[in-house]
Order: sequence, then C-alpha cells, then structure tokens
Amino acid sequence: MTGKADILVRQTFPPLASFAFELAVAGESMNIETNIPVRPVTFMSDEKRKDKAEVAYFMRRLYARGLTTTSGGNISLRTGKDRILITPSGSDKGRMRVGEIGVVDLDGQPVSKGFKPSIETLSHTLIYRARDDIASVIHAHPPQASALSASSIPVNTSLFGESRAILGEIAYVGYHRMGSAGLAEALAAALTTSNCAIMRNHGVVAVGSSLLEAFDRIEVLEAAAALTVASLTCLKPFAVEIPEADLLKIDEMMSKAERGRCHIRGSGHETRSSG
Ligand SMILES: [Zn+2]
Repeated sequence: MTGKADILVRQTFPPLASFAFELAVAGESMNIETNIPVRPVTFMSDEKRKDKAEVAYFMRRLYARGLTTTSGGNISLRTGKDRILITPSGSDKGRMRVGEIGVVDLDGQPVSKGFKPSIETLSHTLIYRARDDIASVIHAHPPQASALSASSIPVNTSLFGESRAILGEIAYVGYHRMGSAGLAEALAAALTTSNCAIMRNHGVVAVGSSLLEAFDRIEVLEAAAALTVASLTCLKPFAVEIPEADLLKIDEMMSKAERGRCHIRGSGHETRSSG
C-alpha cells in the first residue's frame, strides 16, 4: 500500500495504538504517548517494507546461527540504481527490526531521515560500484573464520566439495582499521574477482545476487574455516583432501553457471537480482 493516512490513536482503542506502534517500529513517525495527535503518517510501500524485512531477517538469522556478535556485522541490499538498504550502526543484531533498516545512496549518504548507517557503509557502496552483478553484501565475524583471519593460515577449500563450489577463490585483505577508507578500497578491489573475502584481524565479507546467496557463502565459509582448523589440530594425521583432478571438475561445473545468477533458490525476495 502506498500513500498517506491520518491515524487516530486513542487509549480507549488499544488495537489502534498497537497498530500505530507497528508503524513506529516500521520506521514511521508516530507518538503513541500523546494519545491524539493525530499526525499524517507515510506508509512504507509493501515492496520497500518487504525488502527491509528481509534485511532485518537475515541479520537476525546471522546472529542466531552464531555467525556474528551482538555488535558486529552489517548487511545491505541494493534495491535500485542508487538505493541501498543497510543495517544501522550500534544496534542489537539479534533483535534487528524492520524499522531499523535505513536507506543510503551510492555515496553512502543517508536517504532515510535521522538514519545512522553502519560504520562499514563505505565498504558496501564501493563493492556495489565495482560489481554491478550483485545485490547483497554481508559482513560478519564468524568465530572460526575470524580466528584464521588473525593468522597466516588460509581456509582450505580442498577438504569439502561444497566449500570449493560455493566459495570459489577466497580473497585475502591485509589489515586495515575497521570502518576506514583503506579497508573499503582494499575490500572492493579484492571482491572484483571473488565472492568472499577474509579481512586480516577482523572477519569476513561475502557478496551475492541475493541476500540468501551472500548468507550461504558466509555460512559455508565458516564451515570451511572450522574444517580447516580441525584438519590442522585433532584431524591432523587423518585429514584427506579431494583429488586435484576432481577439484578442477568442480571449478569447471561452477564456472558454467551464469555469472551473477543466484546459486540457491529461496522464497520471496531472496532470489532478486540487482536493479
Ligand atoms: Zn566488522
């Protein structure tokens, strides 16, 4: 639904107050404490709300899966040529709500009034500028991959076929302070030829033609990192890699897939392509 409506909020009519609260959660201005006034409220379009809800959902899913910390990580979704939905700075990742998701342009300038975007917004916008085939960027701090990021040990994608197929060539980015322009530039350069990157002493970033595809890459990257750590510790005498000839066959199989096309099917907006 698009348009404007005047909403009366009265204590004597709790359902309306509840509805108004939902609107407030959705990011619209509404004061339910003052009982009436009655302020014009701009409704979010269904499309915009669905996109924001998807971003919030994937942030909660990322946290629930133990792939990032309460304060760490950020997610964005490109919804138009110059419009990016992105998670805010300093918010609880496990309880991310649709109304917390804001909009920035390709320069990282907030379009949503009063919105304070993630400190890594510059990384997101530079990556989108460098990759017109992607619609989502996810940054996270998964424990095992982050542990390897603080070492010189690379993730071994030769231990499990899924790692090789889904991750391809992982990019490695040297140390830069979080939120810095140096980090954003190095990441954007590294991700021109890879779909995921490990940032030294920091964490990981994955891109995709949908939120689901980028999320899948983060999850598979963490699983590959855990397997790498195991192969170097408890499994060390027993770890076995996939034969080289078969790894090349997997590479060939994946390279036949259309570039930019989502490798995994999902519901709703999860399979959207960049616009
Ligand atoms: Zn981070």
